[in-house]
Amino acid sequence: MNEFTVAGVSHRDAPVLRYDPTRAELADLLAGEPRYRLDQVWEGLHQRGDDIDDLTNVSKALRTRLREALPSGLTPEHESISDNGDTVKWLWRLHDGHHIETVLMHYAERTTVCVSSQAGCAMACGFCATGQGGFDRHLSVGEIVEQVIRARHTSAPRRVSNIVFMGMGEPFANYDRTWAAVERINTDIGIGARHITISTVGLIPGIERLAEESLPVNLAISLHAADDELRNELVPINARYPLEDLAQACERYLAAKNRRLSFEWALIDGVNDRSVDAERLARLSRRLRAHVNLIPLNPTPGYPTRGTPLPRVYGFRDELTDLGANATVRRTRGTEIDAACGQLRANRQIVDPPRRR
Ligand code: SAH
Repeated sequence: MNEFTVAGVSHRDAPVLRYDPTRAELADLLAGEPRYRLDQVWEGLHQRGDDIDDLTNVSKALRTRLREALPSGLTPEHESISDNGDTVKWLWRLHDGHHIETVLMHYAERTTVCVSSQAGCAMACGFCATGQGGFDRHLSVGEIVEQVIRARHTSAPRRVSNIVFMGMGEPFANYDRTWAAVERINTDIGIGARHITISTVGLIPGIERLAEESLPVNLAISLHAADDELRNELVPINARYPLEDLAQACERYLAAKNRRLSFEWALIDGVNDRSVDAERLARLSRRLRAHVNLIPLNPTPGYPTRGTPLPRVYGFRDELTDLGANATVRRTRGTEIDAACGQLRANRQIVDPPRRR
């Protein structure tokens, strides 16, 4: 165990993982080495692969030292492949026994990695498998970045083009580490800010901070309901950040960034797929010029209601379109391996260590 500060966070109790140190912190670790070694190791770690042995331009002795000082943060516990190899999901074990998941998705025109920002989630959305399981802990910067490195390794020769923070956890509840990871993914892994999307349940302080950042990443809001009564039920944090406050925060964000927002809407049979829901959603998305992503709800063990049947999914989209909203239906990936939205960690027979209360 080391004492180390990463992105302002003390790692007194946690090991420093391979992708945790900043460049300056790595420089400290390489004290005594020639100056160019820092560039070699930093670039090697971010550009070359997922193993210290890939750093073939540094000595074997240094590789051994780095492997000991900077252990990998992710141990694969399970890997599953579906959609004819176009979707790969990993279940990783973290150093303290908690678990997270990462999904790699190949499409004709892009390859996307869906990363987790927390182990578990405290937002408690009832329809989401992660929400049903509760919160374990925040991920470190290195634990977020390493998900991209590992997925990129498997993706090769296909290049990872997009990153979405739509795995486990609420990114804005872990803002500092998420943002440090975004900067690293952009600057050192080389993925354009416009190809990085942060998805939030609607934490207004996070939206306000994002509006101040210079990197133009995309913002997605998990809306799911456009009236407070229903949204309080589906997304409990709405009680703290109700819709009108959220809408005004989005307006301030738009004024500051001039970027297009998107809304995510998991269609739940008979719950949020009525014509009145389409009308409310259309009104809000027109006001905020937001693009609506419709996702038929994926089944999860702890939520009895099923997803909207496909004919109604398309009917709902058509109603939105007729009302002047911009909406598309998102294709579900990885359903048969429990990698679909909200299913991460579902059906897992693994026991995490007890939570600290
Ligand atoms: N906490 C963040 C990011 C993780 S969830 C957020 O809420 O945005 C990524 C997306 O999957 C969110 O829009 C979430 O609402 C959605 N989702 C969760 N459970 C789902 C389910 N069972 N079916 C479809 N989408 C789901």
